[in-house]
Amino acid sequence: MSDRNTTEMHDYDFEMVCDYFTGLDRQGPGSADTTRKAASFIEGLNNNSRIVDLGCGTGTQTITLAQALPGHITGVDIFSPFIDIMNDKVAAAGLQDRITGEVGSMDELPFDEESLDLIWSEGAIYNIGFEHGINIWRRYLEPGGYIAVSEVSWFTEDRPEEIEEMWRAAYPEIDTIPVKVAQMQQAGYVPVATFAIPDSDWKEHFYEPMYPVQEAFLAKYAGNEAARKLVDNQRWEADLYYRYCRYYGYVFYIGRKI
Ligand code: SAH
Repeated sequence: MSDRNTTEMHDYDFEMVCDYFTGLDRQGPGSADTTRKAASFIEGLNNNSRIVDLGCGTGTQTITLAQALPGHITGVDIFSPFIDIMNDKVAAAGLQDRITGEVGSMDELPFDEESLDLIWSEGAIYNIGFEHGINIWRRYLEPGGYIAVSEVSWFTEDRPEEIEEMWRAAYPEIDTIPVKVAQMQQAGYVPVATFAIPDSDWKEHFYEPMYPVQEAFLAKYAGNEAARKLVDNQRWEADLYYRYCRYYGYVFYIGRKI
């Protein structure tokens, strides 16, 4: 889900927002190629490695990750229907031995300290804030363990007022790449790699698949004002992305615990 929706989630019914996103393969911008590229920076894992995917949604990237890296992955999401869908997809892919879905919150994780080799999170850390997230998750990693998260970031020092205002309201923690990298170093990680995900991860893999989902959603919630508002908001957000995508996007930040 995009930052704005979640920030404004209290304006809508949480279940309704999740229902909208249940119809989509991904709940945030991304792609299998991007997941594989980020995974290529992770070294030293083996079949006994312990990986978590926080805010995994319906698990599309969890499955790609399991195909790219060895080890066992626990996918965690706060919304149980997403975990149900993920479990079905995992079974269909024959990966039940490699992936376990758990309903839970990313700010109250049930893992032991220094028990994990890799913490993964695509398009989800904003729910608790990037800086807070990388700081509170660090304790669960073994020394030398990796963190890999994607986070919305500014590409330029200055932006047009319209887009600046939208993000100031939606996610004030949005910042430039050097600021986020410095936060990672301050939190006790060696910054290993940083790359902006391609436009196509937003356009082809996120916004375009939404069109048919929006039609079906509006038919299901016919006459429901909140549903109409949700779809209008999605369309407005997509329009802003198409107009201003040279100023912001998702960036993968990969770090190694010192
Ligand atoms: N990683 C997926 C989903 C990103 S959308 C993808 O890239 O497609 C963000 C996800 O975070 C949603 O599935 C939402 O249910 C989940 N989420 C929101 N707050 C959460 C929390 N506190 N703990 C765990 N998951 C949370």
